[in-house]
Amino acid sequence: MLRAELEKREIIEIARKIIRESPGPICNHCLGRQFAKVSSGVSNERRGEVLKEILSEGGEELASGKCWLCNGLFENDNLDKWVRAALAKLKQYEYDTFLVGTKMSGMLMENEEMMWEIAGALFAEPLKAELNREVGKRIEQETGKRVDFDTPEVVVILNLWSGDFDVELQVKPLFIYGRYRKYRRGIPQTRWFCRACHGKGCERCNFTGKMYAESVEELIKGSIMDVYGAEDVILHGCGREDIDARMLGSGRPFVVELRAPKRRQRVDLHALEEKVNEENRAKLEVTNLKYVNREMVARIKNANARKTYRMRVELRGAVAESELREAVQELDGAVIEQRTPLRVVHRRADLIRSRRIYGMKLLNYGGSTCELEVRCDGGLYVKELISGDRGRTRPNLSDLLGIEAEVKELDVIDVELDTGHETTEATR
Ligand SMILES: [Zn+2]
Ligand SMILES: [Zn+2]
Repeated sequence: MLRAELEKREIIEIARKIIRESPGPICNHCLGRQFAKVSSGVSNERRGEVLKEILSEGGEELASGKCWLCNGLFENDNLDKWVRAALAKLKQYEYDTFLVGTKMSGMLMENEEMMWEIAGALFAEPLKAELNREVGKRIEQETGKRVDFDTPEVVVILNLWSGDFDVELQVKPLFIYGRYRKYRRGIPQTRWFCRACHGKGCERCNFTGKMYAESVEELIKGSIMDVYGAEDVILHGCGREDIDARMLGSGRPFVVELRAPKRRQRVDLHALEEKVNEENRAKLEVTNLKYVNREMVARIKNANARKTYRMRVELRGAVAESELREAVQELDGAVIEQRTPLRVVHRRADLIRSRRIYGMKLLNYGGSTCELEVRCDGGLYVKELISGDRGRTRPNLSDLLGIEAEVKELDVIDVELDTGHETTEATR
């Protein structure tokens, strides 16, 4: 069957041309690979072997020795050496699926081009395709793991540049969704580099490189990085609260991305949740932890989730409770035209945005202070809803009362995100 397929005149003529015009001996793999598309269900090596039989029966002289094209890559135990190098790296990682890729060397690419000038590439497959497949098959046999072309957990890169069985791994990140509550003010969501030294470390930042000693990201990272043996942990939040605001109530949705984790889905998330909460008591709590895909990062980053805030407001002037109630009622349900606040305009585009208030109520009145709760579109700056920001936010509480009002304490108590991921089962 195979022999019959290869004995066609067109095939034999190309094979003979290869033998005659090659600058040196050629191995069965490299000869057979030029005819990979002629027949399926058989290795290039076998194909090359049969072709050589046919040619030699026809009187063709075949040189022996190291293959000029692959430089011996497919000969002796070189494939096994690649496999052993890959396994040595892989054994540190938990994975079910993998894929093999090859960084070709310049010399092999040139050789392959030369071959295709001789033989044409009509029936050929690239050298690296064969190498990936052959090494992949052997790794499957050795480990029982599975090759996955679409979403492998580890990509094994055979680096042919360096010449000494150099294998690199690209480990797929792991993503965990959850919600966090932040109980302490003064903690930013993510690392905030020192403005003076941009992270290098200087006297101003006490050589930490950071504006704040800790962040939500670093606190979570500190508790989970070693559990997974990850190289780094990045926090993606569904928006962020001000540094001086607490995050209470239902908590803020986030996804942590664990880079190059050694452990994967065998970590129990209930235990992990308890560990994080134990280690960050009084500062931070996480709930609803769940393994998710990378897509979830974009979903929470792009979600324009409605928020509910609670705030303590200072009233700088005499206001009767009835006046305050009226003003709050006025804002309840209003559409707010908000120009980018002065405090953030240096890093955000200066635009006017419309944001709706879905509910606003007075919780407490104490003469010179009051407590308010507001539920609104994501992206509304609520501090400016109270102060007016020199007329950049309209309507606003200060204008309605005719006095200056200012937020002194702010808590986020709900971030509404319909993820379809939050089930009661995941909330322990
Ligand atoms: Zn070869
Ligand atoms: Zn610094």
